[in-house]
Amino acid sequence: MSSVQQLKEELEATKRQLEEMKSAVASNDKKMRNTHRRELRLLQAGTLDSLVYALIEGLRVSYKLDYVSLVLCDPDHDIRHLLIANGTPAEDFENLLIVEAMTGLAPQFIALREPWLGEFAHCDHQLICPGASNIKSMAMIPLTHRGKLLGSINLCSADPQRFTRAHATDLLAHLGVIASFCVENAVNRARLLRSGFTDVLTGWHNRRYLIVRLGEELARARRDGARLTCLMLDIDHFKRVNDNWGHAAGDSVLREIAQRIESQVRASDVAARYGGEEFVVLLPNTDADSALLLAERIRQAVSATPIDLQNGESVTITASIGISEVRPAPEAEDLKTVGDSLIARADVALYAAKSAGRDRVIVGAA
Ligand code: GH3
Ligand code: MG
Ligand code: MG
Repeated sequence: MSSVQQLKEELEATKRQLEEMKSAVASNDKKMRNTHRRELRLLQAGTLDSLVYALIEGLRVSYKLDYVSLVLCDPDHDIRHLLIANGTPAEDFENLLIVEAMTGLAPQFIALREPWLGEFAHCDHQLICPGASNIKSMAMIPLTHRGKLLGSINLCSADPQRFTRAHATDLLAHLGVIASFCVENAVNRARLLRSGFTDVLTGWHNRRYLIVRLGEELARARRDGARLTCLMLDIDHFKRVNDNWGHAAGDSVLREIAQRIESQVRASDVAARYGGEEFVVLLPNTDADSALLLAERIRQAVSATPIDLQNGESVTITASIGISEVRPAPEAEDLKTVGDSLIARADVALYAAKSAGRDRVIVGAA
């Protein structure tokens, strides 16, 4: 073969390789975008039941799988109580298994730290996948908290090649981290319902809880080099509601406003009734611009439709919101001071919104 011919063939081979690499990159890119979409859906689930639904049915549809089950460890019955309180007891969810302990359910649970992919074995996996039939391969994604196994998401397929040990597990591992975080967040809410961290009128967390979580969120933000944003909302002229219609009417307005705010925030946000008619929302990983969008949505949700009072009348309520933001420095700064300043700056911005005429959002100085 002439050297020109040889060169040509080599060139063709290189071109082919390049094409293959291009399509591999495009396929990875698509996978990544799908993963982000799935994770976003989990983060947006506002209640434990919608989270459970997103984890089982949502993942089954989105991954085009034949079967998905979710195992959750619930030794203190917090998850069960929360589901009952939400109106859908655990038994009503197909393929949800709530257990007292993770041991003895599947051999992989003994050391499940990363997703396990492989052959579905009826004898090993029937307990965590009840009712699954014709399944040939599975991915078991651990749900963990501080290294402790709290559950697993079990993705199952009739295709033996769908999940094998040769497959990469990084995207599934990431999904597991997000899902763990969402479950933990939901369970924390359930626990706190029983403790002194809850406001009885609205069912929201109270100021005490907010201060504790503020410390935790600041530590997390410092570790991740991330931002934490604070929204402080105060109902405008709320005293007039009490004065005109009485305290009970005032209470029902407070409850309705809390619900309207809640409808706009995500499960990963920390919302609390901070004082009488003041609410605070902490937004992890959020800059002031995105916080401003959310604050505007909240402001509009509060005033969009009048609130019905028991006496047949209705009242339109507006609210003012102040926003502050912080990115805690990596050095060992006193996080209590950082937190106090975050709250104080939101308060100053809120006061500015009141002075400027109320029913508005103001972003405070950094
Ligand atoms: P501004 O627009 O400046 O915020 O005016 P405002 O009337 O909302 O503010 P002010 O601080 O003067 O009044 C707040 C009122 O909220 C006074 C207090 O009695 C009432 N309040 C606080 N907690 C509760 C509660 O749990 N239930 C009821 N019904 N009222 C409450
Ligand atoms: Mg006030
Ligand atoms: Mg007020």
